[in-house]
Amino acid sequence: MREECGVVAVCRKEQPAAGLVHRGLFALQHRGQEGAGIATWDADGMHFLKGRGLVAESLPTYKVERLTGNMGIGHVRYSTVPSDRTENIQPFVATLPFGHMAIGHNGNLKNQAALQRDLESRGSLISTSMDTELMVHLMARSGADSLETALHFMASRVQGAYSLVILLEGRLFALRDPCGIRPLVLGQTGDGFVAASETCALDALDAKYIGEVTPGELVEITPNGFRRTLLLEPGPLAPCVFELVYFARPNSVVFGQAVQSARVRMGQQLAIGDAEEGLSARPDIVVPVPDSGVPAAIGYSRESGIPLEMAILRSHYVGRTFILPDQDSRTHSIRLKLSVVREMVEGKRVLLVDDSIVRGNTSRKIVQMVREAGAREVWLRVASPALGWPCYLGIDTPSYGELIINRHTSVAEVERSLCADNLRYLSVDALKQATSNASFCFGCMTGDYPV
Ligand code: SF4
Repeated sequence: MREECGVVAVCRKEQPAAGLVHRGLFALQHRGQEGAGIATWDADGMHFLKGRGLVAESLPTYKVERLTGNMGIGHVRYSTVPSDRTENIQPFVATLPFGHMAIGHNGNLKNQAALQRDLESRGSLISTSMDTELMVHLMARSGADSLETALHFMASRVQGAYSLVILLEGRLFALRDPCGIRPLVLGQTGDGFVAASETCALDALDAKYIGEVTPGELVEITPNGFRRTLLLEPGPLAPCVFELVYFARPNSVVFGQAVQSARVRMGQQLAIGDAEEGLSARPDIVVPVPDSGVPAAIGYSRESGIPLEMAILRSHYVGRTFILPDQDSRTHSIRLKLSVVREMVEGKRVLLVDDSIVRGNTSRKIVQMVREAGAREVWLRVASPALGWPCYLGIDTPSYGELIINRHTSVAEVERSLCADNLRYLSVDALKQATSNASFCFGCMTGDYPV
């Protein structure tokens, strides 16, 4: 499961915006590593820079410094390999009847194929495989003479998730879809105002968190503050619960909830579930799968009183698996990334905690590594419900048939397939409790999608 994008928008009184946008993108790097871009605006018009790879590679500082203008937007992108084309890197720049525009999009349209067929049958020439371009074509075809009317026209035709930042001829906007599926927050810097996918970007800019762009809301970001309009009728509210489970940075506040605390509560709920069910034996130690399993393991340990041990270490020097040189290296990449501290697990009944299981390949290898290091038993606790459905709303997921829970008829079979002595997932009800019973999308866990 991979997040597909992150966005940031900065408006300053006088200083250039590009440097702050750049910093914001570094803080949002976890939301997309395949490409990044920045667009700024000043009296000379639009300036933009895009490139493939990590922010440091694609947007070198000496080039960013040439982007003039006190307002700008930025975007980091993850894309699946078939569409990993340079033209798909955002911000997407276009000239519409009401002005020259750059747009950055986090989310995904569920009706992309139907929209594209319809637009092409009316003569639109689509040059990328991005649903964002379809949104721009819809806005262009709206006949509107203002951004607000064009956005309204576009929103009435698209179904899905969109948190947008838009730069239009010296005006800067942020818009969130009516269900509020992807996050978008607002903040204040010393000399201006910003919007970003997560509050970790605000922290990187020394910006004060003001609050969320509310579902359906269009916010104009000016050097002196925000102009807020409820452009689209909100609801049903369905923020992505997986942002809290896995995607968002632990130091972020997302959908009004502190991410790290929510993950600790998920671990506590796992322990409460085990206590209610009654365990056949008591594990000796709780061990997180780093890094994403750490907060839930802390929660499990606190609730159960079983000691937490950091017995799996993650290397900070091994990069993304696809850049490893050959298939053999890729197959063994998990052994390069993670190491087990033998003396901590030897002879012990180990309870591993991870945030989620998707295909199961990584979990199986980790269980095997802990066993090989001498653990007497390896139990596995998953701080989210079983993932049985793909996401159509901005998260890259494997197909239905690839998800491990769909390749087996029961959790007991999954347990055997992962070679674990004992496996338990967090229930949907327990996840709801851990997230304060707020209204969320649980589509990939229940098959019940908000759109
Ligand atoms: S289907 Fe899952 S990953 Fe997709 S938006 Fe809903 S909760 Fe998030």
